[in-house]
Amino acid sequence: MLNVNKNCTACGACVQICPQKCIQLEKDSLGFEYPSINAEQCINCGLCEKSCHLNYPNMRNTKSQRAYAAIHTSTDVCLKSTSGGAFGAIAEHVLQNHGVVYGCGYSEELKAVHMRVDRIENLIALQGSKYVQSEIGDTYFLAKQDLLEQKTVLFSGTPCQIAGLKAFLGKEYSNLLTVDLVCHGVPPYALFKKYLAWFEKKHSMSVKNYDFRAKANAGWGSSGMASGVNKNGLSKKRKIFYHNEYYYHYFLTGEISRDSCYVCKYANLDRPGDFSLGDLWGAEGFDLPFSIQNGCSLLLANNEKANKLLSVLSLVCTEISIDQASKNNAQLISPIAKSKSRDEILRSLANDDPLKIDRDFRKKYFLHRLKGKIKHLVPNKLRHVILRYKYKNNHG
Ligand SMILES: Cc1cc2nc3c(=O)[nH]c(=O)nc-3n(C[C@H](O)[C@H](O)[C@H](O)COP(=O)(O)OP(=O)(O)OC[C@H]3O[C@@H](n4cnc5c(N)ncnc54)[C@H](O)[C@@H]3O)c2cc1C
Ligand code: SF4
Ligand code: SF4
Ligand code: SF4
Repeated sequence: MLNVNKNCTACGACVQICPQKCIQLEKDSLGFEYPSINAEQCINCGLCEKSCHLNYPNMRNTKSQRAYAAIHTSTDVCLKSTSGGAFGAIAEHVLQNHGVVYGCGYSEELKAVHMRVDRIENLIALQGSKYVQSEIGDTYFLAKQDLLEQKTVLFSGTPCQIAGLKAFLGKEYSNLLTVDLVCHGVPPYALFKKYLAWFEKKHSMSVKNYDFRAKANAGWGSSGMASGVNKNGLSKKRKIFYHNEYYYHYFLTGEISRDSCYVCKYANLDRPGDFSLGDLWGAEGFDLPFSIQNGCSLLLANNEKANKLLSVLSLVCTEISIDQASKNNAQLISPIAKSKSRDEILRSLANDDPLKIDRDFRKKYFLHRLKGKIKHLVPNKLRHVILRYKYKNNHG
């Protein structure tokens, strides 16, 4: 029988594989989903247990793992992407060769959901980070159908979602390519939904897109843009700053993540994906032959397959050492620590009135918010010079 405990990542593999359809993901009091089995319908086939990635050791990366600083050759793609647009380059290649791409987009109600894209003009839906747990739905099942039809499939997501897909498939497919993200944790959709409803009321707008990392706001960093319409149906945009929004703040500090994120099996260099992508924080300190003004990806090519593919992608890459790659990216070394106040903060975000949550947040983080405000008064170019100085001796 499937052992469901707090390490469950809600990958949904067990739900999708059950021949009796007797497993469902159900929300706990904080909004985190866990599988629930209808024992009466279960025929003890054991498939759910077999498809749970928690029951397998991590993939060990071979000596071929290499790290790169990378940016997409197109400024436009860089601007639409979170980091340097490495995902866009890999996805474009697959779509140009008649493959299909799976990744996380927003539904109409701004729920993060995994979806299938088979046309390059629809790729935009998957670009950009949605900082909330993505619902995998039936995408493992759909991806398997595509694989069996001999299509090239690119599947992207958090490492636990990629490990979940692999456990669901149960065997290697040469036509499968996978991208996992450097990941420090995911909050449940319920908290984002509650925050969003309050944000809409506060700013008298209906939000159609919440871009956590819009570079049009303050360049490459943790600021974004909410866009939508006002009460009269006219378009309205609102800048988002991590230091000013309680949801964004607690996402970044890792205080509203799933329990599984604090013991994450994948917060290290043994990656489930062919590629691993993140932000190359501290990129200012490298002597790179390209500008990082519009962002920079940290790209790990974890095996021969990924390394071979690099030369045909629309990417400009410079190899860096694995040590340099992990220096400013803690989740390549260990999971994020669970703070003492995490449970209390979670309970408050789930149960309290958002007005109170916001008031408490503003009071508690007054200095932090002030620091964030001052930081954003510094023009981007000057900020890069300061960071270059800061990181100059960091990558030796
Ligand atoms: C929850 C979360 C936590 C992260 N934590 C870190 C971190 O601590 N350090 C770090 O360096 N990078 C982190 N990242 C990765 C980073 O934000 C970028 O996603 C990554 O660098 C890829 O950027 P890109 O420019 O190549 O392309 P983009 O176009 O920005 O990449 C989009 C990719 O992200 C996937 N994606 C978006 N939202 C989700 C989601 N909710 N769940 C699953 N997949 C999603 C899409 O499927 C697509 O593959 C995190 C991403 C997420 C979603
Ligand atoms: S043992 Fe088989 S039938 Fe029972 S819940 Fe698991 S997958 Fe479904
Ligand atoms: S297969 Fe995924 S959803 Fe099911 S128990 Fe394992 S981790 Fe949880
Ligand atoms: S931190 Fe680990 S367990 Fe949590 S979402 Fe990311 S990969 Fe999954």
